[in-house]
Amino acid sequence: MALSIGDSCVNCWACYDVCPSNAISQSSPHFKISARKCTECEDDYAQPQCASICPIEDTIFDAQGISINPPGTLTGIPPEKMAEAMREIQSR
Ligand code: SF4
Ligand code: SF4
Repeated sequence: MALSIGDSCVNCWACYDVCPSNAISQSSPHFKISARKCTECEDDYAQPQCASICPIEDTIFDAQGISINPPGTLTGIPPEKMAEAMREIQSR
């Protein structure tokens, strides 16, 4: 099983150095994960390190195509609350 990187990747290199399997490489138009090398970090960490460090939500996906870092992962704000939160922040 392997994770994959989606189109919203901004090529920031953050995941590159934390992968214990050297499964991530620079590619075009964005970084990619080698399905052959990716172990989903199972023997090394409790969480997939690429998804833990990725600064862009909704960019890392599991083998079923389900987002590992869905919207709200970084901000802690559920997507349905984002508009309300932005209004509150901008009114300060
Ligand atoms: S899940 Fe782990 S092994 Fe797979 S690409 Fe991400 S950091 Fe590397
Ligand atoms: S950390 Fe996320 S945005 Fe940065 S290169 Fe990796 S997948 Fe792309």
